[in-house]
Amino acid sequence: MATMESLIGLVNRIQRACTVLGDYGGDGGSLWEALPSVAVVGGQSSGKSSVLESIVGRDFLPRGSGIVTRRPLVLQLHKTESGSEYAEFLHAPRRKYTDFAAVRKEIADETDRITGKTKQISNVPIHLSIYSPHVVNLTLIDLPGLTKVAVEGQPESIVRDIEDMVRSYVEKPNCIILAISPANQDIATSDAIKLAREVDPTGERTFGVVTKLDLMDKGTNALDVLEGRSYRLQHPWVGIVNRSQADINKNVDMIAARRKEQEYFATSPDYGHLSHKMGSEYLAKLLSKHLESVIRQRIPSIISLINKTIDELEAELDRLGRPIGADGGAQLYTILEMCRAFDRIFKEHLDGGRPGGDRIYGVFDNQLPAALKKLPFDRHLSLQNVKKVISEADGYQPHLIAPEQGYRRLIDSSLGYFRGPAEASVDAVHFVLKELVRKSIGETEELKRFPTLQSDIAAASNEALERFRDEGRKTVLRLVEMESTYLTVEFFRKLSQEPDKGQAPGSTPNSQAPDRYGDSHLRRIGSNVNAYVAMVCDTLRNTIPKAIVHCQVREAKRSLLNQFYAHVGSREKKQLSAMLDEDPSLMEKRNAIAKRLELYKSARHEIDSVAWNDKLN
Ligand code: GDP
Ligand code: MG
Repeated sequence: MATMESLIGLVNRIQRACTVLGDYGGDGGSLWEALPSVAVVGGQSSGKSSVLESIVGRDFLPRGSGIVTRRPLVLQLHKTESGSEYAEFLHAPRRKYTDFAAVRKEIADETDRITGKTKQISNVPIHLSIYSPHVVNLTLIDLPGLTKVAVEGQPESIVRDIEDMVRSYVEKPNCIILAISPANQDIATSDAIKLAREVDPTGERTFGVVTKLDLMDKGTNALDVLEGRSYRLQHPWVGIVNRSQADINKNVDMIAARRKEQEYFATSPDYGHLSHKMGSEYLAKLLSKHLESVIRQRIPSIISLINKTIDELEAELDRLGRPIGADGGAQLYTILEMCRAFDRIFKEHLDGGRPGGDRIYGVFDNQLPAALKKLPFDRHLSLQNVKKVISEADGYQPHLIAPEQGYRRLIDSSLGYFRGPAEASVDAVHFVLKELVRKSIGETEELKRFPTLQSDIAAASNEALERFRDEGRKTVLRLVEMESTYLTVEFFRKLSQEPDKGQAPGSTPNSQAPDRYGDSHLRRIGSNVNAYVAMVCDTLRNTIPKAIVHCQVREAKRSLLNQFYAHVGSREKKQLSAMLDEDPSLMEKRNAIAKRLELYKSARHEIDSVAWNDKLN
């Protein structure tokens, strides 16, 4: 017995914790909904609030005629071992109410806060917990009374609205229905029974309660109902005598009321034989016993729901990232882990596995050749320009054999054109790398929670890439410069052995000195230079990519964050924690999940231990 008692208490605590975390409501998957609760249903003024109060054994609910209960009241009773009795509202968590008259006032005020001082209803529940050594562990829900007509000041839809709201609670399979019917009305017209029959046709979760037995006409009784002849339910009907309005006005207290109720049944000629199965105290025990057996049945499905939720929450926490230790070592470790995760993804982009690295090859394979092809050598080596350069180089003394100076100048100035495409390739690869850094940061899940570290890593990476770009630029320009500083002698040796293509057929080579500035001579020089430049172009097409990969791509792979690491290593703890600044909304989310996880884990632990105890008994 003790184990079941603690089990209900446990379920109650879980429900309470769920409520505090906001883990209840309509999504259907919450733990709260998997746990049973008791909803009080009945027509207006049928005595719902009165029944609830007498189950609790305390006066705290607003009662009276008309529509007093206008919002659902979720009432959780927590049996405490000892100590004083107090109540607590979810909407005012830090205030402990020991004066139950103040609780009643707060319920009324809180109702008005949402509905205004009108006769409107709202389906936003009020959550109230009562801690007391004198209550049974139960969760009860007081609902607005079902009505047949809208009264002055209420919209026409209110009849339907109330019914829909009540139905939304009682249709849940875990809801135990406390169907209240006043004895001074025909049971056949009971709104409570009508709705209960609709949502629970077999009557297995409906408890029929008959109130106002004391108000029945003299000479009549409710035995047909109480003995189950009028309407059969799986559970026995319970008759109740609550305080009348006159009692309430006279401030008759709960203890006196209960004594009066007991006396009523004990001395009643009609119900005397049933007296041990009548009254509020009996109803409370009956409910709590039923709740025990329901919970016992539900334990496997509750456990599996808890396990499933724990798995989901763990996965969610993994996704959001676990909390980091507070000491500098743990922080440094976390930062380095993040950097490594980022670096790994960045490398995957370069080495394949992730897209993007191929765009670097695109620079070498398309952009660079296209740019080389577009260089204006045609214009630069036009007859006119060749003539101009050659004669300028010759000065007052025309060249004797070959225009050495002229060649050099033509070649030099031509090679200068290669600087453009070389630098452009360096820049193009730089931008690809930069883009890959940006992408990789976005793709590093672990980093998502640390916006500051994200931008720190991005800044450090870009800084490193700038350095690599400088190095790359220097190297490719040096390649071009090297081509100018020493020309390939072989090429010209071969040329001088070839016959002069420009000569007229029939004439013997070198038999006559060519015209120094004649067209055919200049054209030949132009085409020689062109051929030389084409050869250099082929070389550079191959060596520029090598230089770029060497200076930029390889370094990015090898040492993108090296300086950053050195930097971080020498930082103070305060600076480290600043780097690990998190998005506050994310922190909140993680904390909320961590709390829920804790709740579910302790629930699992408690259920396990209770279930284990149970087997021993
Ligand atoms: P609710 O609207 O269903 O919550 O009903 P209340 O609990 O507010 O009760 C409505 C009125 O009926 C109040 O004035 C109560 O005093 C009175 N009442 C409720 N139950 C009984 C009862 O068993 N006997 C008598 N005489 N009056 C009752
Ligand atoms: Mg009420």
